[in-house]
Order: sequence, then structure tokens, then C-alpha cells
Amino acid sequence: MEHSHLIKPLLDGVYPTIAYGKGVYLFDTNEKDYIDGSSGAVTASIGHGVPEIIEALYEQAKRISFVYRAQFTSEPAELLAKKLSEITKGDVNWAFFVNSGSEATETAMKIAIQHWQEQGIYTKNKIISRWISYHGITLGALSMSGHVGRRERFVPLLEDFPSVSAPYCYRCPYNDTYPSCNLLCALELEREIKRIGKKYIAAFIAEPIIGAAGGAIDPPRGYYEKIKEICEKNDVLFIADEVMTGIGRTGKMLAMENWNVAPDIVALGKGMTAGYTPMAATLVSDKVMAPILKGSKIIMSGHTYSANPQSAAVSLAVISYIEKKDLLKQAEQIGDYLRTQLLTLAKDYPMIGDVRGKGLLLGIEFVEDQQQKRPFPKQFKVTTLIIQKCMEKGLLVYPANSGDEGVGGDAIIISPPLVITKKEVDELIIRLKSALTEVNKELNQ
Ligand code: PLP
Repeated sequence: MEHSHLIKPLLDGVYPTIAYGKGVYLFDTNEKDYIDGSSGAVTASIGHGVPEIIEALYEQAKRISFVYRAQFTSEPAELLAKKLSEITKGDVNWAFFVNSGSEATETAMKIAIQHWQEQGIYTKNKIISRWISYHGITLGALSMSGHVGRRERFVPLLEDFPSVSAPYCYRCPYNDTYPSCNLLCALELEREIKRIGKKYIAAFIAEPIIGAAGGAIDPPRGYYEKIKEICEKNDVLFIADEVMTGIGRTGKMLAMENWNVAPDIVALGKGMTAGYTPMAATLVSDKVMAPILKGSKIIMSGHTYSANPQSAAVSLAVISYIEKKDLLKQAEQIGDYLRTQLLTLAKDYPMIGDVRGKGLLLGIEFVEDQQQKRPFPKQFKVTTLIIQKCMEKGLLVYPANSGDEGVGGDAIIISPPLVITKKEVDELIIRLKSALTEVNKELNQ
């Protein structure tokens, strides 16, 4: 029997074939429509089929699509690096372009280590990350990730990097409550640095809002201020993994602006090109670059497609579109509206345990018992069931299930394109309700 030759996430899975997309809608080859309630993998942030981006893609392709970065630079890559330096706060003024979020975080790790080496410090090689996190699928990025499900097969190959608890207030790792907890989860970083020895720690990495491993877990007030203070005090660089949160998703260009905390290194991806072409970036501050510029003057990393002019032109067009349409404000306003709708839903659906996140990066955690916050038994596979039911109803949502016993277990991310209208949000809610009603029924059978 003829079979598909494409390796898909589930080899025996049946996936609809997509025909085209327009705005927040996708259409398959049977003309079924889907509201892209997750922007794919939190990527298609300005929606599908935007003529301005297609035009930019075409115009650049007519000039040049590829140059090798060791031979030439290109106008779009130069302009994009400049633009990113302008739209980011603080002294984050340098950009190293790569092709995926995993490469961006792994490059961030390498640059952090190199920063210390250039000063003659060769012991600072470890990166502290948080449990309940996802920084990418390559072995370096996975070493920094606290995502049980994605790690378990490769654990023997991973660096044994230290980790600290996540700021997960819904299920506080200290069984405490904010603010009387005094941010114990942030203070844990200082203890861990002491335990390992600060002379071994190059950097701390965190997703401003935890995405794939937790379902839009946002920290309590004061958390990042404390983290930054601890990092500075201990000569540890702070890497913000903004692959999911960056370029407008939370209502700010970078999510770290929500707390007014400046990272030393930033990883970007996903929304940078909004899915039109692959591109990601590691942004580096003047402070981190200084010893490298004085020393070897070379960043020991790079890929064939790094700084690709085609993708750079797309990213410039995407950022310009976000600015022209004032999509940061839109993300904040529509995000508030969507959050209110989800909170209302929680009254009718006791399986909704928590609604969280910022802007248009929202998460729902599902529980068997709302009062007790008791998770569903793992074997019920509730996240998978919800994703499937939503898909049947024509709604795409993103699974955020890390497979970690410490996390509730079942969560989804709702992160539609920033261009979504109120009317489209209402339609999204109708489809979500209909899916949850059926899930409820099946779970109670
Ligand atoms: N970092 C974060 C926060 C992510 O959410 C992801 C992907 O989901 C990555 C890194 C890895 O990015 P990519 O899948 O483009 O390699």
C-alpha cells in the first residue's frame, strides 16, 4: 500500500492537508475552516496571507535570496539588525541570525560562555535554567530545558545543567502564597549559584512567560527584578528566551518590558518572521560583546542560512506591519477581552482550573477538581482530547503538557494572531465551548 514518505509528529496520525490561509483562518483541502487560535506553534502572529509580507518576499527574491555570510553582508540583514537594536530597550544592540529558536538559545549559551572565556575565565560553563521550561530540541538547548517529555529519551547525552523551581503560583513549588512567600522561587536561584559555585555559572536562562512546558505561566510581581539583582550580584548573565514571547505577543516588543528588566542576551524566533520564512536571532548586549570585540573578534557559531536576506526582508516587513497596525496595543486590548471571556467560561466549566498569561499569550490549566486543583489522571490524556475536540470544531489550540508530575499536567495555550478581532474571538469562544462540552461528556461517561 502506498504510504506517505513524510515523517510527521505521529507516524500513524492522520493530518488534514492545508490548502490556504487568510487572516486568522486556515482552510484545508476539504474547505473545512479552522480558527488559528494558537498561531500554529505561537508563530503566525500577524495572520496568514498578508499581502505586504508576500510582496516583501517577492521583491527580495527578485534581487537576491541567498548569500553566504562569510562572503557578503546584505541590506536586509543589516537593516534588520539595526531595527532590532532600536526596538529593544537597554544596550541590546547586536544581532546574530540563525534559523530556529533552538539555535537561538543554543547560540545564546555559547556566547555567554565565550563572554567569560574572552576575559580569561574558563570555568564559567554551566547554564542554570528552570524546571518547567522549554528552550529547544537540539542537545544544547534541551540540556537547558526542564521538559520531561522532550528530554527523557536523550538524558544520557544531555549536559547535567542545574535548575531551579519555576515561578508557578497556581501550584507553588514551596506550597506558599504570594506575596508572603517573599519570592522564595527567585531566591532559590541565589542558593543554587552558591551550591554550585558562581565561578562555574555562565548564565541563567528563562522564558519570560513559560510556554510549551507549562501553558503561559507568568511570574508574580517583583520576580524578574529579584532574578536580575541576583544575576548581577553573582556575575551571572541573564538570558531571556523570548522565542515565544518576543515581537509583540504579550503586548510589548519584548515581554521583559512588562517588568522593566533588561536581559544581557535575548533569544528570538517564531513571531520574528511570523512563520512566512524561517529565521531566529540571538540578540546580544554591548556589555556581553565588549570582551569579545576586544578579544577574538569572532563569535564561534553560525549556519549556512544565517542572516539569510530573504528571511531578513520578511522579518523587517513583519515588524513594520506590527508597528503600522499598532498591534502591540491590539494584543493588549484583545488579550484582555479574550482573557475575560475565558474567565467567564471557567464559571460554567469546572474543569478550567487556571487562566493565565499576558497579552495574546494565554493559557488554561485543566483540573479534575477546581477547588482542590486536583489534576486529571495522566491516563485520561485530557490535553490530547481537548486538542482533538477543538480541531474537530475548527479551532487550533496549542498543547502545553510537559509530562512532569510536578506540573498539573494538562494545559493549553491560546495565542491567536495579534490581528484577531473581537468578533473572531467570540467565534473562537463558541468553538472552544463546544469542544469542552464534548470533552466533559466523554470524561463523565
Ligand atoms: N524557546 C522557546 C521558549 C520555545 O517556545 C521554543 C519552541 O517552541 C524554542 C525555544 C525552540 O524553537 P524552535 O522550535 O524554533 O527550535
